[in-house]
Amino acid sequence: MKTNRPSILILYGSLIFSVISFLLAAFIDFVIIPFSNALLVLIPLISGVVAYFIFYYLLKKFINNRLSLIYRSIQVNNGIDSTKKTSIDEVLEKAESDVNSWKEDRTIEISKLKEQEQFRKEFLGNLAHELKTPVFSIQGYISTLLDGALEDENINRSFLERANKATDRMVGILEDLDQIAKLEVEDLKPELRSFDISELIKEILETLELTAKQKNIVLALKKDYGPIHVLADRTKIGQVLTNLINNSIAYGKENGKTEISLLLFESLVTIEISDNGIGIDPKHFPRLFERFYRVEKSRNRNEGGSGLGLAIVKNILDSHGQAINVRSTVNVGSTFSFSLEKSKISGPVSSRGIPLK
Ligand code: ADP
Repeated sequence: MKTNRPSILILYGSLIFSVISFLLAAFIDFVIIPFSNALLVLIPLISGVVAYFIFYYLLKKFINNRLSLIYRSIQVNNGIDSTKKTSIDEVLEKAESDVNSWKEDRTIEISKLKEQEQFRKEFLGNLAHELKTPVFSIQGYISTLLDGALEDENINRSFLERANKATDRMVGILEDLDQIAKLEVEDLKPELRSFDISELIKEILETLELTAKQKNIVLALKKDYGPIHVLADRTKIGQVLTNLINNSIAYGKENGKTEISLLLFESLVTIEISDNGIGIDPKHFPRLFERFYRVEKSRNRNEGGSGLGLAIVKNILDSHGQAINVRSTVNVGSTFSFSLEKSKISGPVSSRGIPLK
């Protein structure tokens, strides 16, 4: 039995009270008026019981008042129904466990806030760094042109072209930033519709063919899969495929190959994008999908990339309730894969996902 329980302390208090009243009764009995023996027993007994109830009532009232003030100050509903017969011990035990869980919640909240603060600092630092490079190079070309290079037919055009390239890079970063900000603000509810994923992949492969040709990289679907309908946001999945295939070209080797395969398993379709490019050391996997994270800061850097491509991919797939996976070996190649829910509709559908037959 816990001796620090209020009810036990009250019991001790009433016992002491009862002993005192016995001594008092005995004193009166000896010195002033003699009592009967029954009265000598009854007086301490009754005063002990009465003292117990009075102490109990007063202490309970005091504790309830104090606790409701404390609960109010920590903005938690105490959930104690004053009309219900709850003992003091229960009230205090509940208060103790409430305060402990409140403390745990606050600790979690504080560590989350610290994490966010750290993330915000890193994000701002990274953003400034990413924008600084193209802005400084534009500034450099323009000042050189103004300082006289504008009249030099041999270099003026090439300087303008380089400044233009740096502007394109800045626009790319801003567009990606804009997209990632929108994805977060919208809280990213994907517009789920049924569409043919193999058709979407073919479309994207066509749009990226020209970029791949510059490095003589072959882009191909592993085989002709025929129509495979998935339930997802077509535009956003298009963005995921574009980012992943673009990376396979950017980090692919000259004369290399990017292959896309589809695997059907139960209710899911898994899409795999494999390249035989420079690969990624697995130690980078945990941070690969963070904004602005780059595997190697200088070497093999995709100068056109914003460092946000994989963060966007992860964001979109998260909103579909799916994960992005990566397998890779340095100098051998990388495979990025993700799954989508198969759609129940298998025939042709309109752009709004309505069956046409
Ligand atoms: P970036 O704009 O730098 O390409 P991403 O978010 O798309 O940004 O990619 C993050 C980093 O992951 C890249 O800088 C690159 O180091 C690495 N990476 C992404 N895809 C591949 C790939 N297919 N092969 C090798 N490295 C890759």
